[in-house]
Amino acid sequence: MTAIGTAIRHGLALLALLTLGTAAFAKTIYVRAGRLIDTEQATVLADRLIRIDDGRVTAVMPFAPPPPGATLVDWSGYTVLPGFIDMHTHLADWGQTNNPAEPLLHNAQEMAAVGALHARTTLRAGFTTVHDVGCYRGFSDVALRDAINRGDIEGPRMNVVGAYITIAGGGGEVVAPNVRVPNEMRVGVVRDAAEVRRKVTYLLQHGADSIKLIATGAVLTEGTEPGVQELTDDEMRAAVETAKANGSWVTAHAHGAEGIKAAIRAGVRSIEHASLIDDEGIQLAKAAGVFLDMDIYNGDYIEEVGTKEGWPAASLRKNRETTDVQREGFRKAVRAGVKLTFGTDAGVYPYGLDARQFAYMVRYGMTPMQAIQAATVVSAELLGWTKDVGSLAPGHYADMVAVARDPLADISALEHIDHVMKGGTLVR
Ligand SMILES: [Zn+2]
Repeated sequence: MTAIGTAIRHGLALLALLTLGTAAFAKTIYVRAGRLIDTEQATVLADRLIRIDDGRVTAVMPFAPPPPGATLVDWSGYTVLPGFIDMHTHLADWGQTNNPAEPLLHNAQEMAAVGALHARTTLRAGFTTVHDVGCYRGFSDVALRDAINRGDIEGPRMNVVGAYITIAGGGGEVVAPNVRVPNEMRVGVVRDAAEVRRKVTYLLQHGADSIKLIATGAVLTEGTEPGVQELTDDEMRAAVETAKANGSWVTAHAHGAEGIKAAIRAGVRSIEHASLIDDEGIQLAKAAGVFLDMDIYNGDYIEEVGTKEGWPAASLRKNRETTDVQREGFRKAVRAGVKLTFGTDAGVYPYGLDARQFAYMVRYGMTPMQAIQAATVVSAELLGWTKDVGSLAPGHYADMVAVARDPLADISALEHIDHVMKGGTLVR
C-alpha cells in the first residue's frame, strides 16, 4: 500500500470514529484481532481493530490505538472469527441416554431448566447462535429462547421450532408400552394435511420461529426406520404453504433418499441429516438452492458410547446403516457445490462438543475455510439472519470467538475456544 493510501485509510477510519463517537450514551468497546477471518470474503486480515457500539460491530480497520481511556479487548495473540452457528441442536431437552423413553420422565419445566445449562455450555463453546430443531415437551425451547433474549440466562441466539411435526408413532414421537403420552408431547402430531395446517399455524402463533418436519423415520426413535418416508407429499406441501403464508419456513428431518426428494419437491428450505441421499437428491438440492444440514460427527459418538452404555440394538444398527453412507453423501454434496450448513444434533452427544464436527467436514471434502463458512455465513443465510450473524462486517452483532491456534492450519483448533463474546459482552 502506498503512503498516501495508508494516510487516506487512517483518515477515513478517524472520520468513522469521530462520526460514530457522537452517538449519545453509546457503549463503545474495541477489540484488537491479531488475525481476523473474514467469512464473507474467505480471507484472513492481519492486525485489525474492531469497533463495537451497543453490541454491534460498527467499524473494522487496520489496528491503530483506540482513543485514550477506551475499553480495549486485546486479542492480538489470537485468531478471531464470528461466533459459530449450530443449525441442529436440541437444547431444551434432557440429552440422549440409554433409555429411549427418557423424555417421558421429565416435564416441560425440567426440560426448560436443564436447557438453561445446555444453552450456557453451548455458548461457552463458541456457538453464539443455534437453530434448535425440536424438543419433546412442546414450547420449552420458546421459554428458553425468551429467557436468553431477556438476558435472564446465558445462551446463544436461538431460532426455535416449538415441537416436531410428525405422524403418530413416527420419528418425532416418543412412545413406550403401556404409557399414555401426555398432550404436551403430542403438540406436533398430525394425521392429515388439514391437521398439518392447523398445527403449523398453532406452533407459529405460540412462538416458533420456523417449522421442523419429520419426513422419515429416525435413528434413535424406537419403531421407526430412517429409510421410510412418513409424512406424505401432500402433508409436507401443506406445511410449506402454511409456514410461507405466516412469513416462516420449513426444514425437514429426512434420512431416506425418497423422503429427501419428496421434501425438496414440497418446497422445504433445508434437509436435516440427508443420510441416504442419492445423486438425484443432490442434483435436486443443488437446483432448488436447498441447504443440506448433515450431522456427520455424531455417528462415531453413538457407536462408541451407545455400545458401551447398552443403547437399544435397533438404534445402534440404524446408526451403523446411516453413518458412513452419510459421510460419502456429504463428500459428493461438497463436490457438487450444494449449500451445506453446520448442524450437529447436539443433545445426541454431550452439549458443548459441537465443534468436533469441523474436523469431519474437512476430512470429508471441505477446506478449513469452507467448514468455517458453513458454520457462519452459510448457516446465517439459511436462518435468514445474514444482516445479524455469521460475519463481523459492520452492522453485525459483535458475536465472536478467539483461538490461540490457527484453525486454517488445523481445524481442530476450534474444539478449544479461548474467548467468546456475544453482543459485545465477554462470556468467556
Ligand atoms: Zn435432531
